[in-house]
Amino acid sequence: MIDLRSDTVTKPTMAMRQAALEAEVGDDVYEEDPTVKKLEDKAAEMLGKEAALFVTSGTQGNQIAVLTHCNPGDEVLLDANAHLFLYEGASMSALAGVQPRTIQGERGVMNPEEVKAAIRPDDIHFPETSLICLENTHNKAGGVVVPLENMQEIYGIAREAGVPVHLDGARLFNASVASGISLQRYADQTDTVQVCLSKGLGAPIGSIIAGSYEFIQKARKWRKRLGGGMRQVGMVAAPAYVALTTMVDRLKVDHDHARKLANGLQVVQGLTIEKVETNIVLVHVDGIDETAETFLEEIKRDGILAVPFGPTTVRFVTNYDVSEKDIDTVIDRVLARFAF
Ligand SMILES: *Cc1c(COP(=O)(O)O)cnc(C)c1O
Repeated sequence: MIDLRSDTVTKPTMAMRQAALEAEVGDDVYEEDPTVKKLEDKAAEMLGKEAALFVTSGTQGNQIAVLTHCNPGDEVLLDANAHLFLYEGASMSALAGVQPRTIQGERGVMNPEEVKAAIRPDDIHFPETSLICLENTHNKAGGVVVPLENMQEIYGIAREAGVPVHLDGARLFNASVASGISLQRYADQTDTVQVCLSKGLGAPIGSIIAGSYEFIQKARKWRKRLGGGMRQVGMVAAPAYVALTTMVDRLKVDHDHARKLANGLQVVQGLTIEKVETNIVLVHVDGIDETAETFLEEIKRDGILAVPFGPTTVRFVTNYDVSEKDIDTVIDRVLARFAF
């Protein structure tokens, strides 16, 4: 099977497995695991933040951010297609007791003026706007790199209003590699950031949240409350360190593969393909009279996996375990089935 469902399906490399085997460990709830400390210090440095915390998943990292920034009854502003709104089981409502308020972005990019207008004035009737969430790259929009200028504008508005900003940077590494803008410059435009090590970077488990010392101290307590305080977790932090320090630059290869895939599929008349910016390719299949479900069934028979991303939209995500030859195979097989 050529698995293009997500970049989360990557398996740890030999170097990662070796690092896990050799990891020096301790009890991380006592903050005594040197391998976790090393990972967190490195991540904080790369993101230009005072401190970082290793968490179990991207979802846990985002939710810890919401829990740390907000109080029950507050309101969070975010894009209508944000992962935090669509794909986290309404956990900001279920766990933090906050109300999401969505803004319809354009390919994942919110209009700063609309964000400004949505910040609540001080009034006994209103919830308090206590957080703005951004996402870069934007998953649902198709791996879109949100422009730094847009983030700067929103951060300016947020700071003026005294509202913190959290960045869901599950794929911030992809944004940085594609744009040539450093992780720090992106993270500079937010108070806190979450990055996934288990996506394009290929770590088996884990995400990082980063921010001020004070934020991370509070976040550490929320992580413990959620059951995310782990013990000899250096076993997991060691492969994550390998991911963070050796796997970023190679994301360019995934981006090249995504572009190649999009160009190859473009030949099929009736397929509409969204502009590729990073490692995600969105393909609309209504023009060849397929639904996402029927299209996926057919390519699965050819040994290709992708996921539905709407009734007639399919998402392919290039990743470390998919080679250029695999991409050629995918193009050949889709063309054989659908091009006339
Ligand atoms: C994958 C993803 C997450 C969540 O990460 P998990 O580790 O799967 O919980 C959050 N935000 C975005 C944009 C993602 O793509």
